[in-house]
Amino acid sequence: MDIVKLAEQAGVVGAGGAGFPTHVKLNCKAELVIANGAECEPLLRVDQTLMQTQPHRVVEGLLAAMETVGAGHGVIATKAHYHGAVDALKEAVASHPQIGLHLMKSFYPAGDEKTLIQDITGRTLPSGRLPADLGCVVLNVGTLINLSHGMERRPVMDKTLTVGGAVEHPVTLDVPVGTPIQTVLRQVGFTGDSNSHALIMGGPCMGALEENWEAPVTKTTGGILVFPASHLLVARRRAMLQSQLKLAKAVCCQCSLCTQLCPRNALGLGVSPHKIMRAMACEDASLLGDVNSLLACCSCNLCTDYACNFGLTPGAMMTEYKNRLLKGGVKPVPEENILPDEGMALKRVPTRRLMARMGLSEYDRPAPLLEKSLEVGRVRIPLRMHIGKPSWPVVTPGDLVVRGQLIAAIPQGELGAAVHASIEGTVSKMTRSYIEIKA
Ligand code: SF4
Ligand code: SF4
Repeated sequence: MDIVKLAEQAGVVGAGGAGFPTHVKLNCKAELVIANGAECEPLLRVDQTLMQTQPHRVVEGLLAAMETVGAGHGVIATKAHYHGAVDALKEAVASHPQIGLHLMKSFYPAGDEKTLIQDITGRTLPSGRLPADLGCVVLNVGTLINLSHGMERRPVMDKTLTVGGAVEHPVTLDVPVGTPIQTVLRQVGFTGDSNSHALIMGGPCMGALEENWEAPVTKTTGGILVFPASHLLVARRRAMLQSQLKLAKAVCCQCSLCTQLCPRNALGLGVSPHKIMRAMACEDASLLGDVNSLLACCSCNLCTDYACNFGLTPGAMMTEYKNRLLKGGVKPVPEENILPDEGMALKRVPTRRLMARMGLSEYDRPAPLLEKSLEVGRVRIPLRMHIGKPSWPVVTPGDLVVRGQLIAAIPQGELGAAVHASIEGTVSKMTRSYIEIKA
């Protein structure tokens, strides 16, 4: 069985991150495949639910990935206190001695790829290197489940996500890709609107504010979090970069706590958010530090959400600057053998303390799996839900499509991912960015 081909045909992309096409990721050699089920963003319950309810799918996907890259070992990494998931996984791996469980403490960002690799292998992935350079491949557990479905020729049509925050009953559920957020919210019983509430897509630390409540769920949406419009996390995201800059110039005392608690700094990667604050305040780019230390920021926002006592946003500054460099085509200079900070373990921030600091404790409630299917009358499926080029439509308006049918393909010779219909119906509209299907 050509697993790479099947992953490509099924449109499998990284379900827990930016959506890197899985068939490309699997096109390498490695000794170890790591299943990332660490799920470190507060309030999200997706990976723990998937591991608890579909442990055999996770293992099947992991075995397929291991076979494809030639790895003799697999590790499923998760948090020790995800008891339901751990029990289910223990049973699922019992007959596979080549797969082990790696149980982590509850800290943020345990699921960061470089942090995970360090925790499991004891080695820091240097800047400008891929996990395969250290002999490993990391895949989210949701991606592995999709890979396992892909092997049965079932493409990616739904996304499992958590609806949480200021909703009466947080839930985790499967949503057809392209479903408007508003449709999801109404069907799980949320009746608020954009005057009183705001939405953060993904986790509360790394997720982005979404002002358009009709925006679609994509293959990488991990959460729809609802917060009162006055919540600190919303205010921070709404503050314009210019006003954040002004505040930084006036207030930053260069205490460097943001750098001391930066997890990527602790890994030995030299990330130094206090330097960007200094450079911005002095309007002197020579104070920024080297390119690698800027590009190694993972935008976890721990510096903003936990470290800075003045409410400044060094994480946003780092992310802004990093994105500018990446847009300009700047790449990290490959490094070798990075040694972590000796105090790395002591710098880990417990998730519970982070939540208290971020004003999230009251929203930390179970989000059980909702078994019922949503009633979805219309989907707008984006042509780009992945890293790479937008997919190329292979249907036209008026076409009748069935669920799972290919509607957009990878452009010839490009990095991309196939896109499939998530509901049965008629193609009612097509733009350069999405295909709309009405049931
Ligand atoms: S941004 Fe905050 S934590 Fe960082 S140096 Fe300035 S005052 Fe200190
Ligand atoms: S967002 Fe802040 S804490 Fe996170 S990696 Fe970047 S600089 Fe470090």
